[in-house]
Amino acid sequence: MARQSDERETRDERPERRSPAAVPDPATLAPAWREVVATARRSTRDGLVVGTSGNVSARVGDTVLVTPSGVPYDALGPRDLLAVDLDGRVRVGHLRPSSELPLHLAIYRATDARAVVHTHAVHATAVSTLVTELPAIHYMAGALGGPVRVAPYALYGSDELARHVLAALRARTGCLLRNHGTVVYADTLRRAYEYTAQLEWMCQVWLAASAVPGRAPALLSAAQLDAATDRLRGYGQPPGPAGAPPA
Ligand SMILES: [Zn+2]
Repeated sequence: MARQSDERETRDERPERRSPAAVPDPATLAPAWREVVATARRSTRDGLVVGTSGNVSARVGDTVLVTPSGVPYDALGPRDLLAVDLDGRVRVGHLRPSSELPLHLAIYRATDARAVVHTHAVHATAVSTLVTELPAIHYMAGALGGPVRVAPYALYGSDELARHVLAALRARTGCLLRNHGTVVYADTLRRAYEYTAQLEWMCQVWLAASAVPGRAPALLSAAQLDAATDRLRGYGQPPGPAGAPPA
């Protein structure tokens, strides 16, 4: 019962988008698809994803390009372009979308995301089993909006997991998924990927510092992290790439 009303709530968040859109022209989607595939390959190369365990998507208008389920990223080419609408109906392509499509779509429907990166990065996944929020070990948490929450566990690919993630993403652009991995969204794939790598790095730092016997890592206060969050958002800064990681 609760689940039904939750689902309806989610649907009600999609104003005026319900009219059937024209089938998108694959040629206009090709550049975004190349970027999706390149990002997915990079996630494997950089060790953030093993095999096909993560997934990457990008939104172009009301179309979402998403990596397919179970296809090695090295095998993906232009003909594998896979596009769905915001309700998850395949509009272009012949492959089955990633099993985490409900998670990606929930984020696109609820936020201004233009790109979503989901990984099973090792340190982030380890941290997701230990805490309900990544301790404030480094100010780069501000790039994700503040202390990084851990969404409660739910079966992969489920609407329940998507709901948990949306709750964990309130006022944040990234979170951990308990016993599962990471999800980060941004206005570009480059930025979503960069902040995924930063999140994994912060988790590695916290694990390393926590592992020193007899010592506990110093953590940032809420005020210190708030100040870093404001600066990373570009508040009070000269025009430039908001949220760009500082040198
Ligand atoms: Zn996953």
